[in-house]
Amino acid sequence: MGRPGVAAGGAMTFSIHGLAVARGIAIGRAVLIASSRADVAHYFIEPGQVQAEIERVRAGRDAVVDEIHRLQQTLDEMGPKEAPHELHALLDVHLMLLQDDALTTGVKHWITDRLYNAEWALTTQLEVIARQFDEMEDEYLRERKADLEQVVERILRYMKGVGSPVAPPHVPRRSTGLLRQHELLLDDTQDVPLVLIAHDLSPADMLQFKQSVFVGFVTDVGGKTSHTAIVARSMDIPAVVGARSASQLVRQDDWVIIDGDAGVVIVDPSAIILAEYGFRQRQGELERGRLARLRHTPAVTLDGQKIELLANIEMPEDAAAAVHAGAVGVGLFRSEFLFLGRQTTLPSEDEQYQAYRRAVEGMHGLPVTIRTVDIGADKQLDARHEKARDDGHLNPALGLRAIRWSLADPAMFLTQLRAILRAAAHGKVKLLIPMLAHVSEIRQTLSLIDFARAELDNRGVPYGPVSLGAMIEIPAAALTLKLFLKYFDFLSIGTNDLIQYTLAIDRADESVAHLYDPLHPAVLRLVADTIAECNAQGKGVSVCGEMAGDVSFTRLLLGMGLRSFSMHPAQILAVKQEVLRADAGRLTPWAHQVLDADEPAKVLAG
Ligand code: PEP
Ligand code: MG
Repeated sequence: MGRPGVAAGGAMTFSIHGLAVARGIAIGRAVLIASSRADVAHYFIEPGQVQAEIERVRAGRDAVVDEIHRLQQTLDEMGPKEAPHELHALLDVHLMLLQDDALTTGVKHWITDRLYNAEWALTTQLEVIARQFDEMEDEYLRERKADLEQVVERILRYMKGVGSPVAPPHVPRRSTGLLRQHELLLDDTQDVPLVLIAHDLSPADMLQFKQSVFVGFVTDVGGKTSHTAIVARSMDIPAVVGARSASQLVRQDDWVIIDGDAGVVIVDPSAIILAEYGFRQRQGELERGRLARLRHTPAVTLDGQKIELLANIEMPEDAAAAVHAGAVGVGLFRSEFLFLGRQTTLPSEDEQYQAYRRAVEGMHGLPVTIRTVDIGADKQLDARHEKARDDGHLNPALGLRAIRWSLADPAMFLTQLRAILRAAAHGKVKLLIPMLAHVSEIRQTLSLIDFARAELDNRGVPYGPVSLGAMIEIPAAALTLKLFLKYFDFLSIGTNDLIQYTLAIDRADESVAHLYDPLHPAVLRLVADTIAECNAQGKGVSVCGEMAGDVSFTRLLLGMGLRSFSMHPAQILAVKQEVLRADAGRLTPWAHQVLDADEPAKVLAG
């Protein structure tokens, strides 16, 4: 993939377009994550661990050098008939590549100056050298890239075998303070803001980066409501996904502007462009400052309707951000994030209980809605499944996902149910079940909940009451609401999946992202009917998909009769501002017009 032409004497600004997923402007130097090494751990080390990490790479490299020497010796003993001379020569090339200065010096640089862990440093340097090979005129030399990849792969395998002595530390997020233009002129690598550019990042990767130094994210693939995008949004830092070839076009250390509002990535910006975006960045900060004043203002419409603004969280620690943003509870705790990125065992009952309890206690008496695991689709437990998906062997969005996965493994599901019931002894807990469609699934789920209670009774372990809710995220569920309301105390509309399944659009696939339309009349009809039926029966209903946190839909949802919205803490204040400006009674007839229109987006735009 060619990079746009470079002006004589220096770099040239160019832009890449993707999908806007998390608002705001980020300006920083690019950190590239090599795409082909998705199963390599990426984390920052402490300065005191630098020598040990360098040593780990050296030990890995020396072991591979020894292995090749041994192999060459065996070849020599076999004689030229069985072991052609070319093989020996090829191994010489591998030895040469292994001992090349560019590899060693580069790896040292990433570990020492950037505090990358050993594996990350190695794959980053591989990417740097691989690009140099790509640009070579000589075909023979170009092909040596594959050899280099092989030797690095061997080092990585060796390093995996011996394990990492360094646990991934929790690195505090660096200040995201505004970047002033003069700072760009300082070529220090220590304190400049960093933006992460990758082909793809799994939700587990994102979780690892959640408390990290990055001020923005860009990925080549992914849709607006892919789980990677959702985690980026929850981090409240600018992000663009579906930027196609960004990871090919951007180079390590390039200066990059991420415009999270427009979904644009600007590479090597000129001074004028930098000044413009620096200004917009400051405007954004001022706007946030203004919104922060609404934190303690009750969310009430102009005509006196009380609106419940809840938080979506991924980890118990997110409860603090929810309280800080003024959420009146957690409307969706995506419990599967406790299960992701684990190599072997699933979290035990006790580990889960402690995590749910932390979330409940962190909300200080406010209700917490814990959703049982939604593993599958774009949240896979391990890399094997992700690879299968990449290879096109699975269509996990239609496969063994969420409640289907739980019912297929009752012991695992019971473990989770017991942990949630036990946490309910410490505060108000609501239990939410994802992806239900069939009455048989509903009955099985309810009897397993009863069974979990009976098990706790038998063990004499205390637990608390929970109200039971179902996600409405499959059209079949939205079309059989009466059935759902017979069994459940409340419903929560998962618009991310409801849109995906209604329109047959993979929410993680950027190539069909333009067809992923929350305003499609069919989607609006299902959402409106669900709200209306719950309101008519006096049952609680909330929207917890990304639509709830998007201010462009707030008035429409209010007009449909929605009084409970659940979203990332970072979105709560902006939605509250819309609520405070809205007259819910007057929005009702207008919402009907939107619902009846052939092109609702046009009516919505006014
Ligand atoms: C949804 O589908 O809208 C939802 C909230 O669940 P998730 O995004 O975790 O699938
Ligand atoms: Mg869902």
